[in-house]
Order: sequence, then C-alpha cells, then structure tokens
Amino acid sequence: MSRSWRVAAADLVVGAACPGCGTAALSVCRACGDRMRPEPRPVDTTWDVGVPVVAAQEYAGVMRRVIVDWKEHGRTPLTGVLACHLATAALVDQTADERIALVPVPSSWSARARRGADLVGALAEAAAVRLSTAGVETEVARLLRRARRTGDQVGLGASARSRNLHGAFVAQRQARPGRRIVVVDDIVTTGATAAEAVRALRMRGHPVHAVAAIATTPGREFAKNPRWATPASGATSSGGLPSHAWHEQARG
Ligand SMILES: [Zn+2]
Repeated sequence: MSRSWRVAAADLVVGAACPGCGTAALSVCRACGDRMRPEPRPVDTTWDVGVPVVAAQEYAGVMRRVIVDWKEHGRTPLTGVLACHLATAALVDQTADERIALVPVPSSWSARARRGADLVGALAEAAAVRLSTAGVETEVARLLRRARRTGDQVGLGASARSRNLHGAFVAQRQARPGRRIVVVDDIVTTGATAAEAVRALRMRGHPVHAVAAIATTPGREFAKNPRWATPASGATSSGGLPSHAWHEQARG
C-alpha cells in the first residue's frame, strides 16, 4: 500500500490533521515541515545567561502552531518532531568527540499537573536518542529540580519574570564528569529561566556550556558573536545531523 493511501486510511479512522495548516496528515505535513526546518542560531536574551543561548527556530507561524498543539493540546507525538529542533540547537558549537549531557529545565508544578507530563524532559530524552543515533554520545541528566512554587510566567515583563524565578531551581551535585552540559528548554523568551537554571548549576560546580531551545520569541536579535558567524567545519544548518533526518522526522 502506498504511503498516501496509508495516510488517507489513517485519517478516516482518527481524523488526524497537520498542526501547522490543518490539512489531513498523520503529523506535520511536508510543506509545514519545510517552513519549520531547524535553523539553530544563538540569540540575544534580555538577561545575561552567561553562556550562549541557541534556538532552532522563531516561535511564530507554523512553528508556533505546532508548539501550541504539542504543549497545550496534548499532542505528545509531536515530541519526536520538535526533538529534532532541540538536537540541532544542542549541537551548535559542538566539537568532535565531546559527550553531551542534556539538563532539562523542570516544568513548574502547576504546568506539570495541567499537562500531565514533563514535556521538556520527554523532549530531552527524544533529542538524546536522535543525537546518539547520529553518533554524538548524549545522555539526559536531570540535575535540576524546582525548589519552590513559582507563578505563571505568561504575561509578566522581563523584570517580573526574573523576580518570579529567583531561587526557583536547585541542582544536584552528582554528574558524570567529562560531559558537555547543555541546559535545554522549550521556548526562550527573556532568558530569565535559562539564567536561573545556569546559576543553580554553577552554584553546585557544574560547568555549563550552553542553553538550547526549540524556539525563541520573534524579534529577538540573533547574537552578534563572531564565533557564530559561520558554522563549524563540517556542520550544516541542521547542526550536523544528516540532512535527510529532518524530513524523515517531519513527515512522521
Ligand atoms: Zn501542514
């Protein structure tokens, strides 16, 4: 049976639609996949995070609709699509032979209760599988936990976000040595969450190398760091993952 027939048959049963455009599809359709292709770049954040912050796309258009479906409407199979974005962001500035430890930012207790899942943790696990499959030894290290309850960040200004998060995380001491620690989150807005996560890890002596996110809010300038002006040798715009990997993933 051809793929198109299989998709049509599945649509009759489950009524699946592309979260980007609404056409019948099991996951993100090919056109939307092209529009949200990962293009990992460092971003300037309002708050100084202390390490490079890399995002794979802007939180706009198709990318935004897919993330909203994943995050707010419980469409968890999209984790596999978005993990490709996280994997490519985590790979930027990576040198050969480095092992990576992805440290997910823990969801707030209220978000976890509302969504019934730790989405960023699941995203990190899926990205680690993708990276390991591509030959980059990667593990997920859950070094951070919430120290206290925080209010919802949505609707807060930059200063209020930072105040809301101060002291929000504590880090465990244990970590396997020799890993390149990359803090991972879904969306970077002002950088307040990332800064607080990096601060908590450093207080326990963890050397953090970068922060990687699947998307950043639109209009945030990409950082003008000459180190980032050209991709590292051998790297591609997909951060070194094989070019076919994205389309295979995007098609589901
Ligand atoms: Zn679509």
